Amino acid sequence: MISAQILSPQTANVSDLPRPQLGPHDVLIEVKNAGICGTDLHIWHGSYALAQYPLVPGHEFSGVVAEIGDEVSTTRVGEHVTADPNLPCNHCYFCQKRQFNQCLNLKAVGVTRNGGFARYVVVPESAVFPIGDLSFAAAAMLEPLACVVWGLKQVQIQAGDSMLIFGAGPMGLLMLQAVKTDGAAQVVVIDREEGRLKLARELGATATVKAADFNQAMAQELSPFGFDVVADATGLPKVIQDGFQYLRSGGKFWVFGVAPDKARVEISPYEIFRRDLKIIGSFALNKTFHESIALVKAGAVKLEPLISHQLPLERFAEAMHFAEHDPDRLKVQFHLD
Ligand SMILES: [Zn+2]
Ligand SMILES: [Zn+2]
Repeated sequence: MISAQILSPQTANVSDLPRPQLGPHDVLIEVKNAGICGTDLHIWHGSYALAQYPLVPGHEFSGVVAEIGDEVSTTRVGEHVTADPNLPCNHCYFCQKRQFNQCLNLKAVGVTRNGGFARYVVVPESAVFPIGDLSFAAAAMLEPLACVVWGLKQVQIQAGDSMLIFGAGPMGLLMLQAVKTDGAAQVVVIDREEGRLKLARELGATATVKAADFNQAMAQELSPFGFDVVADATGLPKVIQDGFQYLRSGGKFWVFGVAPDKARVEISPYEIFRRDLKIIGSFALNKTFHESIALVKAGAVKLEPLISHQLPLERFAEAMHFAEHDPDRLKVQFHLD
């Protein structure tokens, strides 16, 4: 089967690998669409500690069930599905506390075992989710949406909240749509690229501002006492540091973008104290696939406008380049015929 395998950082082979073997509780999915995420770029560059090479990456994918193990009872051959790539151990302290994303032995499809940048991928039955009549392209974006949904559960938007989102990449645009379903009234989106801001307006942003033009005076005009929630979907330490000044007293800062692990920002503990500020992190997802499927099926979150490129797997290196450098990129996906 065709597979894009990373042998070691920056060295990949698109080649024919043997079709993977199924255990009794496993499901073989014939991949139709698979998205490239920041994590895949880190794996490509060798800056993701958990990755185990050689590796077929890809943890955002959808497809058709091609074969099921002997003990599998909840899906059948031919069903259209996606999968939760995170495979918690189910017995450590955090799993016992239902903090599955903090599992001490966390494994993940496309990170610690072969993923969806291949004709076929194997996942345990417990990770499989039927997608009904959603398109494969949309379904391959349910995983990033599930990450946003997990964040929403931490942040707890209140009806009527004003919100400021830094970054209108795929994650910022998912966040924009999702917070509106939770009752955020005013949602202002900041980005460098006008094309992304235009899309943000189409998807419900109440105002958009180019990053270079945004400042305190403009923020005050938009929301005089500051924003109830400020979210970072850029992962840029400077954006995160500067973002705190836009919070309303009592507001929440949502750290969602993935900053480099060694990065540090300066914040004033006095300001956090004096202004009742809250800093909320959310990592990956935690059993939030059903919620994410429901939001898309109801039409509350649109995924297809966020896909900018669809390429065949044969163009692996080119697709990785687009995902990292094309100024017009949003989500870059592989599409397998
Ligand atoms: Zn991802
Ligand atoms: Zn665990």
